[in-house]
Amino acid sequence: MRLRVRCPAKVNLHLEVLGKRNDGYHELRTVLAAVGIWDDLLFETVPTGTVELTVEPTDAAPAGPDNLVVKAARALASMGDRTGGAHIVLRKAIPVAGGLGGGSADAAATLVALARLWNLRREPHELVSVAAGLGADVPFFLVGGAGWGVGRGSEVSPLADLPAWWVVLLPGPQPIPTADVYRALDPRALDGKADCEIYQWVEKGGELPFGRCRNDLQPTVVKLWPEVGERLERVSVTEPLLAMLSGSGGTVFGLYRDERDARRAAAILAAFRPLVAPLLSREASLLRVSAVEG
Ligand code: ATP
Repeated sequence: MRLRVRCPAKVNLHLEVLGKRNDGYHELRTVLAAVGIWDDLLFETVPTGTVELTVEPTDAAPAGPDNLVVKAARALASMGDRTGGAHIVLRKAIPVAGGLGGGSADAAATLVALARLWNLRREPHELVSVAAGLGADVPFFLVGGAGWGVGRGSEVSPLADLPAWWVVLLPGPQPIPTADVYRALDPRALDGKADCEIYQWVEKGGELPFGRCRNDLQPTVVKLWPEVGERLERVSVTEPLLAMLSGSGGTVFGLYRDERDARRAAAILAAFRPLVAPLLSREASLLRVSAVEG
């Protein structure tokens, strides 16, 4: 049997770092939104019982045990059910190490697809705790659409679909390791106070309070990688609803009311090789497994 799943990227429309916890992780409050840039994964049972991964293009991400796809397969296999092997082909389109959650999306897609391939009869929401063990962003992709992440960002509640906004993404010239960014955060800048207006919006809905949206990792990233600040300024000139760093970067994005505004901004930003994509509804971003003929 061969199965196929496509998984989207994400941006953080808001990311507060409240402080460092006793377990070494940071306590976050974040608004996540699925974005229509897609990795593509194919799964096939193999008689050997092993998990083999091919990544295309080959230099996009490691194909060995460090790949989150392989980690997800192993985590699922270790849950104790009857499992088989799998040959997995991962076609990367989501820029790597850019704060777009590509590896996390791939891991979530792997959990959903292998549960089906191995006949584990698990619904996506049952996979949430395995997902959280793989990485803070993985559970969001089981929820899709827009989500409110607390704790490490891995405790995700679904939010109502956002309007049909579009983003223009400027991937960074180099990968930015998330761990380096958290290590460089100035603890004195973390006051532990959550933003009330954002929280009210999470509770009551209405128009996202753009003026309150912020990414607490952004000042540190701009300091360490000044070209991020330069790209943020260039995006701001196009008058987006929001210009921000996604996650720990280095992708910078502008948010626009519709596709026309986004394409107009992308034309202005052409020198930065922008990607243009819609925010996705929950329905559009759900990880759907389909059987592949032949
Ligand atoms: P994070 O915040 O977790 O670092 P990110 O969105 O910034 O996520 P990813 O594209 O997920 O970045 O890649 C982060 C790191 O994970 C890279 O260094 C990459 O080598 C490694 N990695 C492992 N598996 C994958 C995968 N399936 N796709 C992309 N990168 C992967």
